[in-house]
Amino acid sequence: MIMSFLSIDIFNQIINREIPADIVFETETMIAFRDINPKANVHILIVPKQALKTAKDVHNDNLSLFGELFFVAKQVAEMEGINGYKLHMNVDESGGQVIPRVHLHLLSPDFECDL
Ligand code: AMP
Repeated sequence: MIMSFLSIDIFNQIINREIPADIVFETETMIAFRDINPKANVHILIVPKQALKTAKDVHNDNLSLFGELFFVAKQVAEMEGINGYKLHMNVDESGGQVIPRVHLHLLSPDFECDL
């Protein structure tokens, strides 16, 4: 099923503290908070503060931002006490992305995924 993008970038509202979230990690460039509808014991969303809609917005000049996503995932997983974990990213509407803002799902191993 193709999901539709929400018209509002909710994650920008979280970054700007306009709506609440359970924020677990934040730097000048990144924010991480618990998913409101967790699919695993640990389910955290890692979001760059730079306003990129999808991972297709990756370019030569922002490659490091995407590397930083993986670095933050490692740091947050360590904070959460999970050794192994799963990283998932939906890309664009037809890829299942709903929130129009790049984000990486960090999930504990109990996440049911048959890759
Ligand atoms: P995606 O399908 O990759 O766009 O995933 C969007 C995720 O955002 C879903 O797992 C939702 O449960 C989660 N979500 C939506 N609204 C909020 C919110 N206000 N706070 C935290 N997570 C949210």
